[in-house]
Amino acid sequence: MTPETETTVPRNLEVLVTSVATDLMAVTAATSAQVSERVLGDLVTYFDVDVSFLRHHDHRIHASELVAEWPPRPDSAGPDPLKIVYFADSDSVFAETERLCEPTILRSEAVARPGSATVAEVPLRSGDVTTGVLGFVKFGEREWLGKELNALKAIASLFAQVQARIAAEERLRYLADHDDLTGLYNRRALLGHLDSRLAAGRPGPVAVLFFDLDRLKAINDYLGHVAGDWFIRILAERLQEGDEERFVARLGGDEFVVVPSIPMTTDAAETLAHRLQSVLRERVSIDGEMLTRTISIGVAVGTPGHDTTSDLLSRADQAVLSAKNAGGNSISVFSDRMSQEIALRNDIELHLQNVIDGGALVLHYLPEVDIRTGDILATEALVRWQHPTRGLLSPDRFIGVAESINLAGELGRWVLRNACAEFARWRSTGVGAQIVLRVNVSPVQLVTEGFVDSVAEAMAEFGLERGSVCLEITESVVVQDIDTTRVTLAGLKEAGVQVAIDDFGTGYSVLSLLKTLPVDTLKIDKSFVQDLGTNAGDLAIVRAIIALAEAFRLELVAEGVETDIAVRTLLHHGCHRAQGFLLSRPVPGPEMERLLAEGRVPVHFP
Ligand code: C2E
Ligand code: CA
Ligand code: CA
Repeated sequence: MTPETETTVPRNLEVLVTSVATDLMAVTAATSAQVSERVLGDLVTYFDVDVSFLRHHDHRIHASELVAEWPPRPDSAGPDPLKIVYFADSDSVFAETERLCEPTILRSEAVARPGSATVAEVPLRSGDVTTGVLGFVKFGEREWLGKELNALKAIASLFAQVQARIAAEERLRYLADHDDLTGLYNRRALLGHLDSRLAAGRPGPVAVLFFDLDRLKAINDYLGHVAGDWFIRILAERLQEGDEERFVARLGGDEFVVVPSIPMTTDAAETLAHRLQSVLRERVSIDGEMLTRTISIGVAVGTPGHDTTSDLLSRADQAVLSAKNAGGNSISVFSDRMSQEIALRNDIELHLQNVIDGGALVLHYLPEVDIRTGDILATEALVRWQHPTRGLLSPDRFIGVAESINLAGELGRWVLRNACAEFARWRSTGVGAQIVLRVNVSPVQLVTEGFVDSVAEAMAEFGLERGSVCLEITESVVVQDIDTTRVTLAGLKEAGVQVAIDDFGTGYSVLSLLKTLPVDTLKIDKSFVQDLGTNAGDLAIVRAIIALAEAFRLELVAEGVETDIAVRTLLHHGCHRAQGFLLSRPVPGPEMERLLAEGRVPVHFP
């Protein structure tokens, strides 16, 4: 019923009750106050009283809260002092409504006018509990008939039912939005919260702090799940402490998300992350044991109207991952570089398999030159990915990813077979008969089962003679798994494959192992060669490596020759094999074939 239809309020009590029932049936938590007020208005008119009110009791705090009243209190009147009334503070008449069972009529001093008033109070009952009160005030005298009070009892019971239904709805909504264990918000609520925070026009930036407990599993494993749960509850409490408001959610397990209520820049969010990290690191006592757990935190910010909830969360997630990868107990802020890496990584993960099968990989070749003469002694195959939108990608961008998704073996086989095939084709036209083909091998590939066989097969298939192919491996792989490496290298030697140690001097030193490993060549890392002539420290290292190679009778190649002075210095100290941009850039296969036909690179030596 709208206010205009007030005049049609039914004259008959039964019709009145039915009409109230109809109005209240459709009430939800959101419309409850408004509909209740309208019903009170109808009742005021019907019973010809001056004021009516509906209050709900909260027995936990022994108080009564005003839900609706008629006539409504004007906004200009300010906050209602009677909105919440504690029974202990109220007059004895009102205090009695806490446990009122039957309607009562009382006379009291009217608040608004001189003279007395007649008040009818009708309890809302649910089972044996008084859950609220419906009140009607008539300034002056009013008789209440028994049948009127019966109708009011029926109406009070309708209000009590609505009250119970809404409480149940709210409980359900609470459960749907909260985590059982901690009472924090859950993932669903977090998504809803971020959706609304990121809506166009809302204030930004919106910061998200993603918390991941390092090694919670150990607590569960050694102290049991009860202790683990207890620990999580304490962390949940700590996450909520502090001055500024924040939305705190638990995503299950040991993951929490904090969204500060105010807009926050990356820097401010990082500061907050540091503060929370130190609070969370404080010790927790469980069963007499003092426990601490370090926390990794990922920070990301989003812009309302621009970023979506899933963008923002996945960035924070990515940041926390990078914090964990950095060894845990650290804070990492999402950066553009991270987003490019993710994009590339996703791209690579999705497409690498197809790329290997589908012809988007290409090999370039880097000549290795005798710097006394310019003669080409070897050529190194370097893989590239001709990407449809990102251009020609260097191997550093995708080989790591290939290794992490177990495609290194496949990628390596492609490189080896294609390099061997192309090399064999050149030789069949009569060029490059004296030179060596060098192929890089990733550490993962080297320890793959059947590796030696696959190399031997490729050489046999393309008719490459013993000694014409050299595999380049890095120091790290040799040191990490020396037993496997020893067996593999022995197998390669037997198959007639040469082995070079790449990037020599950078990683773990294999000096002590060199004597006993079947290695043919050392390649001095380019970092020592690039500044030769200006950096005395580099020169000392290069001279030491040259001496070492001589002592062990190993072939020596300098990488990264970019300057004349580097060439002069190398020659002066007895190293005459080199590669580098001064001599040649890596070139496509046909170009390499042309260089091989000439037999030397077009450079002028000092
Ligand atoms: P690497 O084996 O040390 O290869 C030499 C790298 O140094 C090449 O980079 C080459 O272009 C670059 N370079 C050559 N001369 C110079 C110079 O004078 N100055 C400078 N600054 N750089 C020079 P690229 O082709 O980008 O390859 C990077 C790395 O990727 C290689 O380093 C190698 O470790 C790896 N890689 C390349 N191809 C393959 C492959 O087929 N399989 C595997 N597992 N790794 C590969
Ligand atoms: Ca190499
Ligand atoms: Ca190298």
